[in-house]
Amino acid sequence: MSSYDYDLFVIGGGSGGVRAARVAAGLGKRVAIAEEFRFGGTCVIRGCVPKKLYVYASQFPEHFADAAGYGWTVPEARFDWPTLVANKDKEIARLEGLYKKGVEGAGGQVFQSRATLVDAHTVRIEAEDRTVTADQIMIATGGRPNPHLALPGHEHCIFSNEAFDLPELPKAIMIAGGGYIAVEFANIFHGLGVETTLVYRGKEILSRFDMDLRRGLHETMEKKGIRIFCQTVGEAVDRRADGRLDVFLSNGERLIVDQAMLALGRLPNTEDLGLEKAGVEIGKMGEIVVDDFSRTNVENIWAIGDVTNRVQLTPVAIHEAMCFVETAFKNNQTKPDHDTIATAVFSQPEIGTVGLSEDEACARFEEIDIYRAAFRPMRNVLAGRDEKMIMKLVVDKATDRVLGAHILGPDAGEMAQLLGIAVKARLGKQDFDRTMALHPTAAEELVTMYKPSYSIRNGQRAA
Ligand SMILES: Cc1cc2nc3c(=O)[nH]c(=O)nc-3n(C[C@H](O)[C@H](O)[C@H](O)COP(=O)(O)OP(=O)(O)OC[C@H]3O[C@@H](n4cnc5c(N)ncnc54)[C@H](O)[C@@H]3O)c2cc1C
Repeated sequence: MSSYDYDLFVIGGGSGGVRAARVAAGLGKRVAIAEEFRFGGTCVIRGCVPKKLYVYASQFPEHFADAAGYGWTVPEARFDWPTLVANKDKEIARLEGLYKKGVEGAGGQVFQSRATLVDAHTVRIEAEDRTVTADQIMIATGGRPNPHLALPGHEHCIFSNEAFDLPELPKAIMIAGGGYIAVEFANIFHGLGVETTLVYRGKEILSRFDMDLRRGLHETMEKKGIRIFCQTVGEAVDRRADGRLDVFLSNGERLIVDQAMLALGRLPNTEDLGLEKAGVEIGKMGEIVVDDFSRTNVENIWAIGDVTNRVQLTPVAIHEAMCFVETAFKNNQTKPDHDTIATAVFSQPEIGTVGLSEDEACARFEEIDIYRAAFRPMRNVLAGRDEKMIMKLVVDKATDRVLGAHILGPDAGEMAQLLGIAVKARLGKQDFDRTMALHPTAAEELVTMYKPSYSIRNGQRAA
């Protein structure tokens, strides 16, 4: 038995940290974990989970409107923001309890405290004003919204953290950003009846997604009434005498809103963590630099999840935690696999995607075939909803391998999860073709696109 207090000390009780602590404790290791805010971390407390609950809430007006075409008369609906916030709070408190209990149940010790490094084997538990020692240390402190201090009036702005708990639903909101968090919140607030403007400095929102999806979504969002200004930035935010905000944009517009939300990327939580005392190297963005096994430059200190600024998604943090446990405690060197990760944007309509976009595939492969379908899904027909669904497969002509699958439309995220198996397994287009369609579904389109819509050879579109 080592002379340290613990075999493993985990700093940060979010998706990655809790998984590492729980599984290591389950192996009989002496494990402790410290969380300075709430167990569950970003995902459970102010990320994926509350966000998805708010997405559901924001979809009801469209469901009510669509019901008429199916014969329903829906009385005028009213929405109560405090009820949604309170119910969300109940659910995340439940999950928070499960996360904490999971570690304790496996035999780990839980500290409700900020923790910092004193040296490579010593951790300070701030709430208890004492230090403990550990053989291995895992840093899983996540990230936080970029505060964008250069923006005059930034102190009047909110971030995704605050957006979940606003005392009242704003009448009008400006959201700055073009990534998935900005886009999702724009759809949430718009769906809840808020006059919403999205302001993004880039040419197109969601620039990392396939062009058909991001353009299709942009168009639909505008049709629904969300104002989108691209190649535009907020230059200043001022508090008005009536308590509302003036947002001055680089395109000359002035918006009058109740809230201005900044979703301009996230920064790793590495400040004042004692990293320099332990000799841990950080990168340009403040992220912890790790090798392929999530090990830092200090032999016994590891880092996983958002703090390493690799892929900022919950399942990735969890996967990195599992690989760490294999490597550090099961004598089974295991590298996290970051290749071909299915993701979604929970907008309205939704995006689900896995693998290479058309542009990425063009840059890497000599000739690709694109199979593309745009159609009105059956559920929209009687509803009278003029919204198209887009499905797209990107195929390497030389090997027939499906390189990417992209969907815009209802349940796209659910479909992308399953398509992820096929793309990860490197299945060929022929495997899709010989899969029987499931009728009537929207997804059957994915296995019935027999002829390429077009081909691209050396970056040039063939007729
Ligand atoms: C609005 C929003 C929506 C998102 N939606 C999705 C989604 O739909 N799907 C998805 O996969 N991902 C989503 N994410 C990303 C996802 O939440 C993160 O990738 C994931 O939570 C990362 O896990 P982590 O363990 O690295 O860090 P976190 O979950 O952030 O956990 C880090 C924890 O460390 C604690 N901490 C920090 N410093 C210390 C310290 N010194 N001592 C003690 N504790 C400390 C923090 O309080 C925090 O609880 C979303 C994120 C946001 C912000």
